[in-house]
Amino acid sequence: MAFQMNFSKEELTGAPPIPAGKYTLQLKGFKPKASALKPGETESGSVNLNPELVVVNHPDYDGRRVFWGMNSKAAFLWTDFVHACGLAMEVVQNEFAGTAKEQYTIPGVFEGSDDPTKKPEDWKYLGPLTNKTLDVEVAEIPAGPDKGGVYRQAKNDIRQFFCAVQNCTDKHSTNMIR
Ligand SMILES: [Zn+2]
Repeated sequence: MAFQMNFSKEELTGAPPIPAGKYTLQLKGFKPKASALKPGETESGSVNLNPELVVVNHPDYDGRRVFWGMNSKAAFLWTDFVHACGLAMEVVQNEFAGTAKEQYTIPGVFEGSDDPTKKPEDWKYLGPLTNKTLDVEVAEIPAGPDKGGVYRQAKNDIRQFFCAVQNCTDKHSTNMIR
């Protein structure tokens, strides 16, 4: 049997980014993953929820994936994401509920996330965010060295989420790309 050894540029580097602009995305699910270890760390310091977001209702780019890591160290952006899905953040039912110190999380549960023997990769999201659509502004990041000097291919990122919660008075970021 012969194996393919010659590849197009797209096969080698992935499809080029979609043009910057406003898109409607649909959340297909989450692929949580512990973030990579930093030098000196023996345990991952955060988790990326990795929502699987695909373009919908678009004549040219239906089905294209748009990556957004959704790291727990940047949870201040989670409200923007959840509101774009038309939902509110959920109050965690713990000892702080109903007090000034009450805590919030995304609606739904990650089954397995309270079991320390389970890796984020084994968590299963069950909740109302699945299959929700959301409007976002997609940015196109040109190829070039990143902050660490490593050369990166051109890629997309999400600049902002558009809130879909009626009468929302929360302040949302209009540029998440730094
Ligand atoms: Zn809002």
